[in-house]
Amino acid sequence: MRNRPPSSVSRQVSLFTLQNMITALYPGTFDPMHNGHLDIARRSLALFDRVIVGVYDLPAKKLLFTFDERVALARAALDTLPDGARAEVRGYSGLTVAYAQQIGAKVIVRGLRNSVDFDFELQMAQTNHWLAGEVDIVCLFANAPHHFLSGTLVREVAALGGDVSGLVPVACAAALRAKGLGIPVDGPATAHVKKRHEMKE
Ligand code: ADP
Repeated sequence: MRNRPPSSVSRQVSLFTLQNMITALYPGTFDPMHNGHLDIARRSLALFDRVIVGVYDLPAKKLLFTFDERVALARAALDTLPDGARAEVRGYSGLTVAYAQQIGAKVIVRGLRNSVDFDFELQMAQTNHWLAGEVDIVCLFANAPHHFLSGTLVREVAALGGDVSGLVPVACAAALRAKGLGIPVDGPATAHVKKRHEMKE
């Protein structure tokens, strides 16, 4: 009984279910993934059947973490979510909208912190619509505790010896520490700050 092949009706039902599943692509640089990013991923999982977190390989900005590191850190961060198993992390290159089409994503999710983000996302959404009208952009407002948070801020605070452990997932804090940034496990000052003190002495 158990090995009986699925009837054509149940095959059609599963095909129907698959075709009606909404896949969302949440793209970004994630250098590294911080709590604001993770919150958008968590809320996307509550809205869509499948969420692909797309890590862009070569953005036109200076990066702290390599592509492989950014992918691994995003994976580790998503694993901490109760629904994380439904999210996939994948690296991609080229046009985001072309990647969305390639993976069958109907929706691209973006996070909005402020009016600067809004202006940028509006321009991007209109460009993407012109390139691929069938892929829609859904913007989620950043939740209050994450309004001020950006990858740049995390990197800068960590580089100056600030404690970013409350702003990023555990794996990202550890990865920053491994690069000698942020608060090390053994004391209040970072290697960077210690080095500056040593230079002064
Ligand atoms: P950033 O360096 O600004 O964090 P990313 O390219 O990694 O930039 O961001 C990916 C997506 O996450 C973008 O849609 C961005 O607007 C969104 N995002 C960035 N920071 C936050 C935050 N603090 N809260 C919510 N969404 C955010």
